[in-house]
Amino acid sequence: MNFTTDCKFLENELLDVVRLFKRRPETLSHAFTYEEGVFHNAFTVDGKVFSFEDRGQVRNELEFKRFERRFAKLRLYHILSDTYGEEMPWGALTGIRPTKLAYMEEENGRDFAELFRLMRVREENIGLVRQILETQRGIYEKRDGNTDLFVSIPFCPTKCAYCSFITAPIEKTRHFLPAYLSGLEKELAASPESIGNLRSIYVGGGTPFALNEGELERVLKAIDPIFRNANRAVEYTVEAGRPDVFTDEKLALLKEYGVTRICINPQSFSDETLQKIGRKHTEADIYRAFELSEKYGFIINVDLIAGLTDETPETFVDSVEKAVKTGADNITVHCLSLKSGAKLKEETDYLENDFISNMVASSREILSKNGYAPYYMYRQKYQVGNNENVGWTKPNKACVYNIDIMEETADNLAVGANAVSKRVFTEKGLITRFASQKDLPTYLVHVDDIIEKKRIFFE
Ligand code: SF4
Repeated sequence: MNFTTDCKFLENELLDVVRLFKRRPETLSHAFTYEEGVFHNAFTVDGKVFSFEDRGQVRNELEFKRFERRFAKLRLYHILSDTYGEEMPWGALTGIRPTKLAYMEEENGRDFAELFRLMRVREENIGLVRQILETQRGIYEKRDGNTDLFVSIPFCPTKCAYCSFITAPIEKTRHFLPAYLSGLEKELAASPESIGNLRSIYVGGGTPFALNEGELERVLKAIDPIFRNANRAVEYTVEAGRPDVFTDEKLALLKEYGVTRICINPQSFSDETLQKIGRKHTEADIYRAFELSEKYGFIINVDLIAGLTDETPETFVDSVEKAVKTGADNITVHCLSLKSGAKLKEETDYLENDFISNMVASSREILSKNGYAPYYMYRQKYQVGNNENVGWTKPNKACVYNIDIMEETADNLAVGANAVSKRVFTEKGLITRFASQKDLPTYLVHVDDIIEKKRIFFE
């Protein structure tokens, strides 16, 4: 597609709108002017001209950009949606955090639903956002100095077919592990000064349980002083990961070090699917992981994905029902995201919006009926069907870390390779980020440098 715009700051966002649709114009140009509260957006799509005027009261530069972003995206969405006869579940919204936008509207004294309707978001999704805001009540806390600690374990037993994460099969990267663990220990030892009011600790992957017991204990031991120094009972999650790497010894270690939550992440309960996506485990392994975990009383999250290779709505519904039967406290329903590679992206035959939207609708129905409430959500680029990922929870079991991350209400002190630390200045409405190196060898070379830069970053 040949695309031009005279509004540079909108270039990527307008392209995001185009990407929502399976069909694309061959040529698209956009021109913008602003005059006394009137935003003029003109588009030429394959030779056809469309122009629009929208009004907005602008008080500052930030608001000016916000209005222009909103109007230009909405108008382009209208054109493409009418041209191709397709409506998207989230209309012209392309951002990854619809609930954050909803909070912003509410903070400014407006019902978020008005903006969402203007952006042509489906009514059921407006309802979903409303429910999430409701479930987050009492946990959502926007306060400078609140902090979450993230520890990155970028190792997995095998690489899943759909994965775009930097992780590699552990047999190929195990030789980095001793140095990597030393890097984590160094970073964690240097961290306490950067931690304000600690709300949660999250050891994420990858697959943290890809580590053996001794390796896992090194990580837990390095976190322990931070956990013990926290002023109150801090939520502590280890995203253990795939069911086939669960052992009683690893679970006992988590208990010993005060972990309160774990994740058993099968993605599907279908043995056929699991094989196709490159997993080594079976449905039976999932139940085994639950049995092993039972005596420790952890809050358990189960991850599922809608849209996995060759799955039908029936296969997916079967997985949701089986996940419910395990008694998991949290069930997170992801929709496959195709940023991972051109090959998958080109396999569009199973990417029909309605197909995935039906899976999502079924999961919402089953989980609501079984006492789960949606408690956080996010969207990703290239997500199959333009849907969303939603975390569901039984009453009082929501994960603080997930809420803080998605709503961007707390600092994130992130440790390890490919870890992005974040500072949130709620009063100023400012967020700054510091990313460590993604690949293991480069990270290992830069650990000392990262520690110093992060110290300054958090000062
Ligand atoms: S378990 Fe997760 S991080 Fe690991 S390869 Fe699979 S999708 Fe990627």
